[in-house]
Amino acid sequence: MRILTGLQPSGKLHVGNYFGAMEPAVRLQDQGEAFYFIANYHAMNTVRNPDELRAYTREVAIDFLACGLDPDRVVFFLQSAVPEVNELAWILSTVCPVSQLEKAHSYKDKVAHGFSPSHGLFAYPVLMAADILLYDSNQVPVGKDQKQHLEITRDLAGKINEAFGEGTLVVPEPIIRESAAVVPGVDGQKMSKSYGNTLPLFADPAEVKKIIMKKLVTDATPLEDPKPKENSTLLALYRLMASEADVATMEADFDRGGIGYGDFKKRLLDAYLERFEPMRARREELLADPGYIDQVLAKGAEKARAAAAPVIDRVRRAVGLA
Ligand code: ATP
Ligand code: MG
Repeated sequence: MRILTGLQPSGKLHVGNYFGAMEPAVRLQDQGEAFYFIANYHAMNTVRNPDELRAYTREVAIDFLACGLDPDRVVFFLQSAVPEVNELAWILSTVCPVSQLEKAHSYKDKVAHGFSPSHGLFAYPVLMAADILLYDSNQVPVGKDQKQHLEITRDLAGKINEAFGEGTLVVPEPIIRESAAVVPGVDGQKMSKSYGNTLPLFADPAEVKKIIMKKLVTDATPLEDPKPKENSTLLALYRLMASEADVATMEADFDRGGIGYGDFKKRLLDAYLERFEPMRARREELLADPGYIDQVLAKGAEKARAAAAPVIDRVRRAVGLA
């Protein structure tokens, strides 16, 4: 069984990426052949500065390793190390209806947030389908925001198989963890690197404190009153990070009233710091050894190319290019 997932180097990783994609990916890494990649072609849609793109790419690599990705078990590589993905994207685009892309929520969301409606952004789901299909992936752990893209991927693989022969492409399944399907950002919308509403995974603790204390939304319930649990971004984030017992205590304190949001925010900060402390320490070690990351990615690139070669060859033959 092959498991594949990707992260865009479009900014600093956040706790939504962690709980939605990275943590499940690390958990799945010993249950099959794992292919995890850094989606640098995709990030070009939102990052226009080459130095920035390089820096984010490196940082995402370090952060994923710090979160427990084991490079001896996982094929860890850059998307651009296997440029054949663009060829497969082209082949898929010839069977992809424009109307299907016009319905993509993620495209509409990005445009609504002010990103230019480029062809690259519009065609993102086709390149993403190629990312998945190029490696004969069976399972794809993702956040809920990617559910529709996975449906497009399955649909395109089905169309190719129908037109050019069953077995040309493997149809993958999404793996979506319901409890972390959409991690809210500090403004209550989906947490996204490109929306400026994140709780970063590895920022300086003082910065995280500032974000939690000053930016995290709460309602105007007076201190003495019970606090509504539903739609509470604070509580949703706390549930992801704190122990079951601490969550139960916090929920009871919400119901009881008499405790202000400032106090709850401090508990969230403590839970955050405790949860990510071991990863922070590992990250420091990785930062001190830049040559190691290069080695890991070079080895990953080689293995990814070897895995992609027979698939693209099979597709070329099926469609009449070879
Ligand atoms: P961008 O704003 O550039 O799209 P992003 O924060 O949405 O960045 P991606 O690189 O697009 O991150 O997504 C990487 C993985 O993280 C995907 O599997 C995605 O589903 C997951 N993910 C992203 N944001 C969240 C979130 N708020 N909750 C749960 N999963 C998320
Ligand atoms: Mg995204």
